Amino acid sequence: MPNFIETYHCRTGTVNPISYPVSSFDDLSKCLEQASDAYYSGALLDINVRTNFLNELCGQIVARKQDLFDLYTSETSLSRPRFETEFDRTLNQLRLYRDAAIALEQQRTESVLADRIISKKPLPVGPIAVFGASNFPLAYSTLGGDVMGAFAAGCPVIVKGHPFHAGTSLLSSEIIRDTLRKLKLHPGIFGHVLDDGYRIGQALVQDARIKGCGFTGSYEGGMALYRIAQSREEPIPFFAEMGSLNPVVILPDTENLTSHLHKLVDSITTDAGQFCTKPGIIFCPSSLIEEAIQTMNARFNQTTTHPMLHPSLQTRYETRLHEIQSTNTGKLYVKQDQEFSVTQGFIHVQNTELNHFETLRQEVFGPFCVLSEFNDFGMIAHTLTKLNGQLTTTIIGKNPEQSTLFNIACSMAGRVILSGVPTGVAVIQEMHHGGPYPASSDSRFTAVGEASILRFVRYVSVQKSHGT
Ligand code: NAP
Repeated sequence: MPNFIETYHCRTGTVNPISYPVSSFDDLSKCLEQASDAYYSGALLDINVRTNFLNELCGQIVARKQDLFDLYTSETSLSRPRFETEFDRTLNQLRLYRDAAIALEQQRTESVLADRIISKKPLPVGPIAVFGASNFPLAYSTLGGDVMGAFAAGCPVIVKGHPFHAGTSLLSSEIIRDTLRKLKLHPGIFGHVLDDGYRIGQALVQDARIKGCGFTGSYEGGMALYRIAQSREEPIPFFAEMGSLNPVVILPDTENLTSHLHKLVDSITTDAGQFCTKPGIIFCPSSLIEEAIQTMNARFNQTTTHPMLHPSLQTRYETRLHEIQSTNTGKLYVKQDQEFSVTQGFIHVQNTELNHFETLRQEVFGPFCVLSEFNDFGMIAHTLTKLNGQLTTTIIGKNPEQSTLFNIACSMAGRVILSGVPTGVAVIQEMHHGGPYPASSDSRFTAVGEASILRFVRYVSVQKSHGT
């Protein structure tokens, strides 16, 4: 008998009535065999087949919107407006990657030399394993960017569905399979497994038939799987997008501080701060600290609290708050919501304390941030260079691009925000969603935007003699 995965509705605090069977090693083996067969038979090699598939998939997703909505909202506690935004993003992303595939196909080049002709073409790397994130059940999961990027590159995909939204993941899988059936395409183009531990997911990465991986999630999970991918007999590319602190520096010359702080608090509290780009540390000069504390405290108190996505994320969040409290440093400004028992707010510390306590410099996945006060601007450059690689770094002030911190921000993050907020990752060509380790495992590549499909492509040169 298989084990079953239960999903939760954190808004009502209830377990959903349907549970989902965990995949067996036999199920995984079938997926791998079929994916390999689909790859070697060139199932998605033809660009017309690929674009037709992605177009049809778009239509099928739209046709099943209500079903997706019902499962998404029952398994995540996310709202209808959030669903609508994520649904649109999922479709736009799919269309964008389809267009990127067409553009990539046109990149085939040929040089005629005196003694031979050499051409070069992009090819899919092979079957890809995808591990989606808990916080984007559509756009970063089974219908999400990594899967669509790999399809657009011509790769078969096997998804290890996220257990927090197992039903949404299985429905997404059904939509992809229905599309393949309708178009009479190779069934191995897509496979899906569920796991209630790490055995299936780790075996997936270990299998020689898998030629690359996309991962979005925690540092611990990303690095555990990355190490497996690198210690295989044939190491493979493993693209992990992991956690980030997303530091924000408020420069002493900042005007309209209240407005900036309101936007920052909104960015920290939206959907209970469960975003990888949520601002985690705000550096504020002593000259502005009193205003910052009062404004932020008032805004956190006024802002509606959202439930966490899953009881285990809430437990992890509370543990992190406890660790921070245990430093016995700084002053906490928090409120606890009566309905969902979610605490939101911030801790005010001195910059020396931030440098001293490592736990203050580690990600808190939830509606909380560290407000770090500095009176020596020179120290901020020092503190920033000591932080690890980040997905984003923000500088707020009159001329942030002219600040001496700008180059430091560029050296440590994949995206630098000038007088704005880091949440809201637009799916466009100019987006870079990644960053130096440990924000991602390979800072040269992005997980969002057209260029993300390059993670799943390799180039082959073909050389022929004149007259052959
Ligand atoms: P997670 O706990 O790392 O889980 C992601 C996926 O990896 C899940 O399917 C999980 O399976 C699997 N996994 C985790 N550890 C594993 C291991 N040792 N071996 C095999 N499989 C493993 O991530 P999450 O659930 O999304 O938790 C939130 C965290 O992700 C936050 O820290 C946040 O910063 C980060 N995040 C980052 C981004 C980004 O773009 N960089 C986006 C969203 C979230 P199980 O669930 O079965 O354990």
